[in-house]
Amino acid sequence: IYILAIESSCDDTSASILLNGNVLSNIVASQKIHEEYGGVVPELASRAHQQNIVPVVHQAIEKAGITKNMLHAIAFTRGPGLMGSLLVGTSFAKSLAFGLKIPLIEVNHMQAHILAHFIEEKGFSKPPFPFLAMTISGGHTQIVKVSNHFEMEVIGETIDDAVGEAFDKSGKILGLGYPAGPEIDRRAKLGNPKAFAFTKPKVKGLNFSFSGLKTAILYFIQKQVKENPSFIAENLNDICASIQYTIIGILIDKLKLASKQTGIKHIAIGGGVSANSGIREALKNGEQKFGWTTYVPKFEYTTDNAAMIGIVGYLKYLEGNFTEQNVTASSRLKI
Ligand code: ATP
Ligand code: FE
Repeated sequence: IYILAIESSCDDTSASILLNGNVLSNIVASQKIHEEYGGVVPELASRAHQQNIVPVVHQAIEKAGITKNMLHAIAFTRGPGLMGSLLVGTSFAKSLAFGLKIPLIEVNHMQAHILAHFIEEKGFSKPPFPFLAMTISGGHTQIVKVSNHFEMEVIGETIDDAVGEAFDKSGKILGLGYPAGPEIDRRAKLGNPKAFAFTKPKVKGLNFSFSGLKTAILYFIQKQVKENPSFIAENLNDICASIQYTIIGILIDKLKLASKQTGIKHIAIGGGVSANSGIREALKNGEQKFGWTTYVPKFEYTTDNAAMIGIVGYLKYLEGNFTEQNVTASSRLKI
C-alpha cells in the first residue's frame, strides 16, 4: 500500500511516501524566514507553505521512485497547529485525493508524534501496548497512556508553556538564535549542569508548568548581568547545562510518577524536544534505575515530518478509516 503523507501544521512543509509502513521518502522544507523574528510568524508560515507544497510533494514522489497514479491514499495533518498553515496542507490533500479518486485520511499531529514509533525501521523496536508516551515539542508537553494505536488518554500536560518553549525562551534571554533548543543541547554537553540551580515548579499530579522557570531564569540572568556585564558570555555553557539539567529533572520526575501510578514501564518519547541528547541519556539511565524499557524514535522522526503522518495514514488505511471530502482543518484538535 502506497501512502502519500502531507504535514504543514507549523513552519515545516513536509511530504513523504510510505510503502506498507516503510518510508521511501521524507522531504522536509524548513522555513528559515522565522529566524529573524525569533519565533514563527503565522502569516509568513502560511505563505511559505503555499510556495513549498507543490515542489515538496513532487520531490517526495520522485525520490520514492513511483508515480502519483500508484498511490492508494493521501494522509494529511488536520490539526492541531496554526490555522493558516493547516489549511494549505488540508486543501492540497483534498484536491489531489479528489483528482486521483483515492481515499483521504485525516491525521492528528500529536497522535502522529506518538505513532512515529510504528514506522518500519531497522534497529528500532515498536513499544508494546500499553505504553506511556511523553510528547515534548514546541507546542505541547503531554504524558499519554497508549492502550492501542488509536486508544490514547492524556494523563498529564502542561498548564502553561510547552517544554520546547522553555528551551526557546531561555535561549532568547541568553541571546541565542531561534529555535534555541539544539544550541542549548550542544552547549550543555560542554558545561557543568550543577553550576547554577533553578528551582523546579511545584505542580500537582502529572501536569507540568514551565513559565515560572522561564521567569526564574530571566531574573537570575538580569541580576548577574548587573554585577558582571559579561556574565552570559563567560558562563554560557554552564548556564545552558544548568537549564537543560533542570528541565530534564522536571520531565523525569513526572515520568517516574506516571509509571508508578499506572504500573506501566514501557516508555516512549516523541516530538522535537526528544532530539535532546540529555533527555535521551536520562531515559536510558531510567532503564537501570527504574526498570523501564524506553523507546526513542529515529532522529528525523522527532521534529515535524510527514513520515509520521504517513504511518498513521497506513494504520488507518488498514482499518478502512477514511475521511470525507468536506473535512476542514482544526487548529485545536484533541488526541
Ligand atoms: P507541536 O508538535 O506541539 O505542534 P512543533 O511542531 O513546533 O510543536 P516540533 O517541531 O515537534 O514542535 O519541535 C520543535 C521544538 O523542539 C523547538 O522548541 C526546538 O527548540 C525543540 N528542539 C529541537 N531539537 C532540540 C534539542 N536537541 N534539544 C532541545 N530542544 C530541541
Ligand atoms: Fe510537532
